[in-house]
Amino acid sequence: MRTLNRRNLLKGSVAAACLTVPAVRAVGQTNSLSEIGKLFAPVPRAKIFTARDIVTLDPSQPSAEAIAVVGTRILAVGALSEVQEMLGDQPFDVDDSFADKVIVPGFISQHDHPVLAALSMSSEILSIEEWALPTGTVPAVKDKADFMKRLTAAVEARTTPGEPVVTWGYHPAFYGPLTRADLDGISTERPILVWGRSCHEMILNSAALTAGGVTQAAVEAFDAASQKQANLAEGHFWEQGLFAVLPHIASLVATPEQLRAGLELSRDFMHSKGITFGNEPGGILAKPVQDGVNAVFSSPDMPFRWSFMVDAKSMVASYADDGEVIARSEALQSWYYGMTSLAPRQAKLFSDGAIYSQLMQVRAPYLDDHHGEWMMEKELFERAFRVYWDAGYQLHIHVNGDAGLDRVLETLETNMRRNPRFDHRTVIVHFAVSAFDQVERIKALGAIVSGNPYYVTALADQYSEVGLGAERADSMVRLGDLSRAGVRWSLHSDMPMAPADPLFLMWCAVNRVTTSGRVAAPEQAVSAEDALRGVTIEAAYSLQMEEEIGSLVRGKRANMTILAENPLEVDPMAIREIEVWGTVMEGRVLPVRSSDRAAATQQDASAGPREAVSPNGAPAFDKAALEHALKVTHAHHL
Ligand SMILES: [Zn+2]
Ligand SMILES: [Zn+2]
Repeated sequence: MRTLNRRNLLKGSVAAACLTVPAVRAVGQTNSLSEIGKLFAPVPRAKIFTARDIVTLDPSQPSAEAIAVVGTRILAVGALSEVQEMLGDQPFDVDDSFADKVIVPGFISQHDHPVLAALSMSSEILSIEEWALPTGTVPAVKDKADFMKRLTAAVEARTTPGEPVVTWGYHPAFYGPLTRADLDGISTERPILVWGRSCHEMILNSAALTAGGVTQAAVEAFDAASQKQANLAEGHFWEQGLFAVLPHIASLVATPEQLRAGLELSRDFMHSKGITFGNEPGGILAKPVQDGVNAVFSSPDMPFRWSFMVDAKSMVASYADDGEVIARSEALQSWYYGMTSLAPRQAKLFSDGAIYSQLMQVRAPYLDDHHGEWMMEKELFERAFRVYWDAGYQLHIHVNGDAGLDRVLETLETNMRRNPRFDHRTVIVHFAVSAFDQVERIKALGAIVSGNPYYVTALADQYSEVGLGAERADSMVRLGDLSRAGVRWSLHSDMPMAPADPLFLMWCAVNRVTTSGRVAAPEQAVSAEDALRGVTIEAAYSLQMEEEIGSLVRGKRANMTILAENPLEVDPMAIREIEVWGTVMEGRVLPVRSSDRAAATQQDASAGPREAVSPNGAPAFDKAALEHALKVTHAHHL
């Protein structure tokens, strides 16, 4: 240890105690340090965790064999003998239950969507990728015939009359078109709702249309733009048409019970993947829905904390007065408590359309000449940027295309020239299609990136053929160029856009292997260590949390992910297979396997009773929950 020795510890504790203890006069009357010591409460007991290897991501001490924890924080890191010596006469226990495991800094989920994840995960998942959930593994759908067969089985398994079947994950680019007639072939009695993998479209059977009262007259009551994105004959609703049909079908998709069950499943899924802190960038703006999320996520027995970010797009659209935009943003803090919080002075903005529906704005035209979309009108985007920038906010900006990125960088440069700021850490979020010349500009402007490397894995093959062409598709999420230019970057899943599984994200970024098994743009692959940084310390940095979490350093929160193997040492193709034993979150040991958990929770009496969901009227809740879920997928909704 470079800086931590007993003398420093002692000096620090005496100084801190003198500042906080009210009996200053008593201190003045004592003669020696040991007498001062007797005035204070005894030093708390430390716990020393040992492991086969500890990856700290602390450059001054990259690996260690022991970590001492006091309460929720790390006291010391180093060799076991060093750590013991540093503790001196402070009482401690040694916990060697990780003796054959590897400890890495607790994984951080930089960007996931709990409500959307809850609704999609609690449905019948039939998707383009496998989902390994705590309730069982759902294999990827092979083709349309496989989809139809499995959906039929799911429908036939239901016994409650009229209970709808909602499925999520269908992707027409992979399986071809799907229509109301296809679904009526499965059942004309039971409502079936097929929610697309992009979350931007739904296909309903006749029973679902009837249950929701979606008649010809109802569709004719949509505004003109929504009618253009609705096809009643085929049961197909997308983009604005989906928002228009939402009030009719929300109660089939998003009841408080579904949300709660889905949140609990998402919570257990994320914990099973080693997550110790998470963030939702698209903050919820319906209080009943946030209350429903808090009922699960604010609970003291949550295995991770979760922060929410102000949805700047909605705020500027709602308030004409700039001062009110900020005041209303700050006021949202009161919505959170316990294990949830509002990310202080951080807000989310949107540039162009979504990747899964190929609506990003690109410089050179799409191969099939379709057009991308802007998520915000230019004037509104520029106003939002200026208002939050001037209030000292850090902006996280959703952007997927290179033309979308040009708009972001233009606006950032304008604001830097107008009102220069130090360490603004503007985050380029997703970073799907970009051009090489933009990397230097990102660096020069002081922006950072949070990329989704799963785009390459899931989409590079398809998009090489459809829309983008091989060069743009393969070089999506060019992390290698960022590293070479010295731009800081982190990784995110955007669950359910990708599984919230940091080891899987690492695997995607390190290998860039596509669905067909080839490697897309190998020069954009990154090292395992950089990828690990992307799901830990760099994710913390992007959330202004780097002094609290993200690496194993004295004074930070004791957040660790416990793995069976060292992800920096295994074959890179094996990273995704590494078993997650569980986590330590702020000193609490949280095993994933239920047998291990039973043993650990017996010692953990801190879990309080859970608050009931308070939906304040179910129909409004259903509608608000589904509306929020669609908004965070960036469905087109001007
Ligand atoms: Zn986004
Ligand atoms: Zn997102």
